[in-house]
Amino acid sequence: MPFEMKRGPILRTLGLIAALAGGGAQAQDPYARERAALLQEIAALARDTGAETGRPVFSARVMAAMAKVPRHRFVPAPYGPLAYANRPLPIGHGQTISQPYIVALMTELLDAKAGDAVLEIGTGSGYQAAVLAELVDRVYSIEIIEPVGSNAAALLRQLGYKNIETRIGDGYNGWPERSPFDAIIVTAAAPQVPPALVAQLKPGGRMVIPVGGEGEVQFLHVMVKQADGSISTQRSLPVRFVPLTRSK
Ligand code: SAH
Repeated sequence: MPFEMKRGPILRTLGLIAALAGGGAQAQDPYARERAALLQEIAALARDTGAETGRPVFSARVMAAMAKVPRHRFVPAPYGPLAYANRPLPIGHGQTISQPYIVALMTELLDAKAGDAVLEIGTGSGYQAAVLAELVDRVYSIEIIEPVGSNAAALLRQLGYKNIETRIGDGYNGWPERSPFDAIIVTAAAPQVPPALVAQLKPGGRMVIPVGGEGEVQFLHVMVKQADGSISTQRSLPVRFVPLTRSK
């Protein structure tokens, strides 16, 4: 359109921000502008870390899921004003909701498809499970701390997510009854990759997991199970997650 082409860069940028913020929808969604700014920050970080992650541009479907899930519903009320800051936040019981950029990156690295069944270890607030539920057929999520898991389950139900099944338990053992999975995401750091999780991954499946013991630098690992069952592993960014604890 010739009119479009005559618009200067500033007007174009403002137009883009307004479009991302949802324009008139802002009245119903007071967080629309902040969420749009967060998406731009995530896109910029993806570019900056692209050489290390291999993903300088996150897919449109991952960004759309990040744009849709109301993170402010997943943080404790006092942290509402920080819900769209790109930072982890406390959710009680010594646990945290992950940094939005890390949620987007891990989701991106999972390459999950519409028909997939995905296992998450570490339900936490339920936010990552909700983002995945926007993208795949079924999400199974395990949390080891009972009140944390039941809180998340209640919220996800309230938000209308019908394709997420949660349970309380030690995710180190995976979820044999629901296996195998197309993809597995672990949102707590383990010194080693739990063997049960590798076993419960389908051939061709992917696992994204922070690896590193307590006090060590953790790195995000992306593992792919080949058709012959062998595993290829790529090390991605350094990260900081709460530890994967074990049931006694
Ligand atoms: N994915 C979460 C962030 C999780 S923080 C979110 O989107 O908010 C990590 C969570 O993993 C914590 O809630 C912690 O209790 C849980 N966790 C730690 N060890 C675990 C284990 N062995 N099995 C299941 N959950 C575990």
